[in-house]
Amino acid sequence: MTDTRSTCPYCGVGCGVIIESEGTRITGVRGDPDHPANVGRLCSKGQTLHLTAADSVARQTRLLHPMQRPARGAAPVRTSWDEALNLAARRFNGAIATHGPDAVGFYISGQLLTEDYYVFNKLAKGLIGTNNVDTNSRLCMSSAVAGYKLTLGADAPPACYDDLNHADCLFIVGSNAAFAHPVLFRRLEDARRANPDMKVIVADPRRTDTAGIADLYLPLQPGTDVMLFHGLLHIMLWEGWTDAAYIERHTSGFDALKALVRECTPERVAQVCGLTEEDLFTAARWFATGASTDPQARGATLSLYCQGLNQSSSGTAKNASLINLHLATGQIGKPGAGPFSLTGQPNAMGGREVGGLANLLSAHRDLANPAHRAEVAALWGVQSVPDKPGLTAVELFEAAADGAVKALWIACTNPAQSMPDQRTVRRALQRAEFVVVQEAFTTPATCDFADLLLPATTWGEKEGTVTNSERRISRVRAAVPPPGEARHDWRIVVDFARRLRPGNTLFPYDTPESIWLEHRESTRGRDLDITGLSYAMLEQQGPQQWPLREGLSEGKARLYEDGVFPTADGRARFAALPYKPLAEPRESRYPFSLTTGRLRDQWHGMSRTGTLGRLFGHVAEPAVQLNARDMERLALADGDLVHVTSKRGSIVLPAQASEQIAPAQAFIAMHWGAEYLSGLSSSGEPLAGVNALTTSAYCPSSKQPELKHAAVKVLKADLP
Ligand code: SF4
Repeated sequence: MTDTRSTCPYCGVGCGVIIESEGTRITGVRGDPDHPANVGRLCSKGQTLHLTAADSVARQTRLLHPMQRPARGAAPVRTSWDEALNLAARRFNGAIATHGPDAVGFYISGQLLTEDYYVFNKLAKGLIGTNNVDTNSRLCMSSAVAGYKLTLGADAPPACYDDLNHADCLFIVGSNAAFAHPVLFRRLEDARRANPDMKVIVADPRRTDTAGIADLYLPLQPGTDVMLFHGLLHIMLWEGWTDAAYIERHTSGFDALKALVRECTPERVAQVCGLTEEDLFTAARWFATGASTDPQARGATLSLYCQGLNQSSSGTAKNASLINLHLATGQIGKPGAGPFSLTGQPNAMGGREVGGLANLLSAHRDLANPAHRAEVAALWGVQSVPDKPGLTAVELFEAAADGAVKALWIACTNPAQSMPDQRTVRRALQRAEFVVVQEAFTTPATCDFADLLLPATTWGEKEGTVTNSERRISRVRAAVPPPGEARHDWRIVVDFARRLRPGNTLFPYDTPESIWLEHRESTRGRDLDITGLSYAMLEQQGPQQWPLREGLSEGKARLYEDGVFPTADGRARFAALPYKPLAEPRESRYPFSLTTGRLRDQWHGMSRTGTLGRLFGHVAEPAVQLNARDMERLALADGDLVHVTSKRGSIVLPAQASEQIAPAQAFIAMHWGAEYLSGLSSSGEPLAGVNALTTSAYCPSSKQPELKHAAVKVLKADLP
């Protein structure tokens, strides 16, 4: 038996795992006691990684050979790698020659490794000359990126997991960490046990399992977070709980924010958010003082937040307004304090580092900045990086549905299930002239549209690095050889690039490390500088946090301890952004607020976890959860089938009463695909899963769609 140290491929906690293997089989997995993220712990998903790995090959849910579809609607047939990649190069070159480089697009994934991400980005922006490369991380954290940059000057979460042990007050908002980040939640519970005076505030429209541990639960109305944050600041100002010295020394723009929040009186905020004034005062006091009863000794407040803030048409305003509270109270840059966004996917952070989004460039550079474009062009040895903004996730599929994007390359993600407003995404995949899907798993929703299927390696088979929510870079290692003809994602990109432009010298890589070294060089002098890090150091010293500059022996656990921010004047900036209502508020024809979220034991579209019976023990089938009063009003009993319908589509599933759901609200888990939850678009096309219903309205700054809210109606299904 062989032990191989690696990293869990599911959530952004980034737990270390030890893979047990015998020959070509992964036989077991256990938590890595030496990994700082989890210190040996694993959640239900991590504990079953070895079973899902073995099961996917046995159950034939793995792609094992390149497959080409001879005609749309026909079954795909096996082909060789040579033929597949030559065909892809021919079709992409054809689209580029006829319509220009922006006629092609790449939609990639926060589950790719940093090295994979880097070469995809270089392929699009450096070789082809289009910025049309975006990622499913757009759906999970682009509002956090925009919020950090707007206020703190760089996309760098300032806190770390160890801050849980120093916090006196935890403000958890828009995050069900108990399900979405289970091992971090266990650490949180430990920290609370060790500090019985700690206060936990949870703000969430749903009374989730996370809310179950709150000392103060704020059941705010969906989409009213910005009003809540402005209201808390109003109270802090009124009561003298802000930190005037910190504001004076380290920030700018406070007067404009003060003027904006003047009208956010407790009475108005309580009415808009559906909260009591008393709870607002308690939350403001605990947050500002770190729940300290001694006015001279401020405790530390740490905010944890995730999709409830990010997946919103006001995502940037929500993130920035929460960060405002930390700046106004000096709750940043000290142990136990700071805004701390949690990433959903295992390497959403690595994708941000290499600039693998349509508006970013390598090492946190901005596409809109001419100097940054010139730096990246020089680094890559290309004449220029195009200045035209790339299409972000929703825009990319809308452009393909309109016929403007002709060739699409999708890697390691399942947009026909996971993107909002599935109807548009499916039209895009039908209308595009050539669709490549590079995947480890046979994800039917998207693979059914592929003209070419390229089998990729996955967890346990590939090498590289990932970065977790606390900026910690960990190694991912192979324990077994790839099954069938599966190839590493970076290798597929390099092989394609060499065929697309024969003779180009932009992709000289022969190992993931050779790619990573180029990425490392791109970070020199940047906020995420890792010039002091190496694969050898990761081998010898284990996972490390960035920044880790040349000459240093370890990374930085906590940022901004000196009060200096990466802005032109070194000051953090308050963002005075007004509260805006939801893109699609509920109304008389669609009187329910539908929200989506995760189950404890499933992951994304269930391509891995859905193969394992034991992971259905917690929740066995899809359901729409409703408040008991609404169930009674609609004459529904548990298990009765209902139509849940939005302006875009309709699905049928059982209703279930839940004490976690407030009246006029509804909840459906995001994981269920066509095998479990079928539906129809408003024009009668077959759709699947909750994204038959969701809206593609997005935040104008971050372009992150409002997956957390759609207005729906719920009607009892007529049974024959
Ligand atoms: Fe994997 Fe996240 Fe569970 Fe850790 S908490 S084992 S990273 S899914």
